[in-house]
Amino acid sequence: MGALTLSNVTKSFGTTDVIKGVDLQVEDGEFCVFVGPSGCGKSTLLRMIAGLEDCTGGEIAIDGKRVNEVAPAKRELAMVFQSYALYPHLTVRDNMGLALKQAGVSKPDITKATDRAADMLSLGPLLDRRPAELSGGQRQRVAIGRAIVRTPKLFLFDEPLSNLDAALRVATRIEIARLHRDLAATMIYVTHDQIEAMTLADRIVVLRAGRVEQVGAPMELYNDPANTFVAGFIGSPQ
Ligand code: ADP
Ligand code: MG
Repeated sequence: MGALTLSNVTKSFGTTDVIKGVDLQVEDGEFCVFVGPSGCGKSTLLRMIAGLEDCTGGEIAIDGKRVNEVAPAKRELAMVFQSYALYPHLTVRDNMGLALKQAGVSKPDITKATDRAADMLSLGPLLDRRPAELSGGQRQRVAIGRAIVRTPKLFLFDEPLSNLDAALRVATRIEIARLHRDLAATMIYVTHDQIEAMTLADRIVVLRAGRVEQVGAPMELYNDPANTFVAGFIGSPQ
């Protein structure tokens, strides 16, 4: 569960073509990292997978089922943004449980799910705090916690660590790698950080101006970049 297929996916805003025909197969349980320059369409592509943007053309399928017409809330996935987007008036526990509450899950089951997520992310002691009482790193862990309470099979991360300082980035990156192992979920992860891409990815997708430039395992791209553009992102110095 959690496999993703993009078939000739396109997106235009007005007369501007932003995604220009992307084909990609992400396997069940794979950790797939998107890299590419600012403005190449990484966030747009994630938002289309999440259903927050319509496709102009092409097809998106999750576990072999077309989802183009499926509402965001009905897609079995969770998205973690760069900005944590927590509700300031809610405690950590209520922030994490909100989606379950809205889905009509019973109170005891919400408690069970939030306790489990808090355990996985060492958030137990923070459950009664509000976002203003947390550090940036803690807020980002809550945002990740909010994604995992629903135990989706597909996670979308849009530069989740870019607002953290260097030490926290490493700690949170290790936590995300551990979550990937423990949850056996498929993860699509956008970053502009070469080390994050190299350490987390099963495969890296290099995007350039709305197209896939090259796809491969980190060491394949590192040792054998298709061109100087790819080398600039993940290749060895040439
Ligand atoms: P990235 O995440 O790779 O930096 P984005 O997906 O955010 O890139 O943006 C890709 C391109 O699409 C940019 O040129 C951006 O200005 C444009 N774009 C994104 N969202 C919109 C929108 N809602 N309306 C018009 N243009 C947009
Ligand atoms: Mg972006």
